[in-house]
Amino acid sequence: MGVILNLVERNLHEVQVDDARMLFHIPSSSLFASDALTGEIIDVLRGEGCSSEMLQQRLASRFGDEEINETLRELIALELVSDGSPLTPEVATKRVERTAINTVVLNVNTGCNLSCTYCYKEDLDKPSQGKRMDVETAVASVEMLLKESPDESVYTVVFFGGEPLSNRKLIEYMVDYCERRFSEAGKRVEFVMTTNATLLTEEIVDYLNAHRFGLSVSIDGPKTVHDRNRITVGGQGTYDVVRRKVDMLLSRYDSRPVGARVTLTRGVTDVETIWNHLFNELGFAEVGFAPVTSGDISDYNLSSEELVQVFANMKALGRRYLEAALEHRSIGFSNLHQLITDIHEGHKKALPCGAGLKMLAVDHKGELNLCHRFTGSSLPTFGNVHSGVKQVELNDFLSQRLDRTNTGCDSCRIRNLCSGGCYHESYARYGDPAHPTYHYCELMRDWVDFGIEVYSRIMAENPAFISRYITPRKVH
Ligand code: SF4
Ligand code: SF4
Repeated sequence: MGVILNLVERNLHEVQVDDARMLFHIPSSSLFASDALTGEIIDVLRGEGCSSEMLQQRLASRFGDEEINETLRELIALELVSDGSPLTPEVATKRVERTAINTVVLNVNTGCNLSCTYCYKEDLDKPSQGKRMDVETAVASVEMLLKESPDESVYTVVFFGGEPLSNRKLIEYMVDYCERRFSEAGKRVEFVMTTNATLLTEEIVDYLNAHRFGLSVSIDGPKTVHDRNRITVGGQGTYDVVRRKVDMLLSRYDSRPVGARVTLTRGVTDVETIWNHLFNELGFAEVGFAPVTSGDISDYNLSSEELVQVFANMKALGRRYLEAALEHRSIGFSNLHQLITDIHEGHKKALPCGAGLKMLAVDHKGELNLCHRFTGSSLPTFGNVHSGVKQVELNDFLSQRLDRTNTGCDSCRIRNLCSGGCYHESYARYGDPAHPTYHYCELMRDWVDFGIEVYSRIMAENPAFISRYITPRKVH
């Protein structure tokens, strides 16, 4: 008898989409439509391992030997079927040896002119007590970026807070500095900012437009929802002023699409109504939702039932995304859009995000943090802009997550898309940023299956949507 062939279940996930049997190739996050023969081989091998000769006998009435062998060769090459040879290790190395930081987040002021009840920022201060970053620290951050990673072609400088526009002088100084410095070095620089919009004026908007800032506005939806939590220091809702500023912003800003960033907290699960308000009524190009499950103030965290509801509502909005996609329109639902992009491009993420790997966040003292959510936290920092990155400590941390041995992630079907989840979420939930975010794995797996279904339908019925709306995103 020949070599016994077995199905490699850990690499294979199937999603039924109408009559089509979709194969999700887990190691590469790629999707294939299974043909009749592939499906039959999988079914036989799922029952029990057998040799190729036995397979040929079992399938002889419908398929020729050569056809079967050809398909088997492909499945073995994809490591969906094993002939006993050792499988390629998925994460080629278990250690991060080198980071290539191309993004620096400058926390330009810990102060914010608002006092949102749920704010996660560990270092948030009232406006009068805000700790501003000085010019020396900001310049040293950019110099550190160039020194640590001199070989990148495009760099990103993110202005964050508190409310970044409460330190506008520093932003303007740094834009001048960076444009000159990066151009002299023969490099490109891009600017990004998340703002609560309240301090925007026409003059500021025109300035940001001229420098092509990538902008996100924090806004939670219609007035009744927004004013629950996004309030002034004096306790007043901020919807009316934000609305006026957003109308002004969107009527003038044309250098890049502007996105809305929505925080979902206890009692707020109506994703569709919020999207409708922000996309259709206000005119944002994109709307992204951030469900809060592990914030410091537990009263604001979504309950587990609410989180289930949020994902169900995201799927309902996802079906509208699909309907529109089949009519060749995008409804700017960025959570799903990002997932579809990941599946389309076969993103294989060894780590969940760029924090610490491509990006570091600098606090007002010049200390280096994994990302903007860690500034001011008690997690030890990873160096400072003057003395440089503590590369050994940073590599140790990232390597801990890279090595999935003995974790639930090791055999999880979405391990190369979720990669253990957000470090800050884990830090807030388990006190350990290296711990996987086990508290919503099932919801995440279901969400990815939904993304696979939506992507398959778009590819079957209007693949031009993908080239129109997904591929061009890479260029920007
Ligand atoms: S955190 Fe959960 S969903 Fe994410 S890869 Fe690990 S086991 Fe899978
Ligand atoms: S650690 Fe979490 S919050 Fe920070 S960049 Fe990564 S995903 Fe975002």
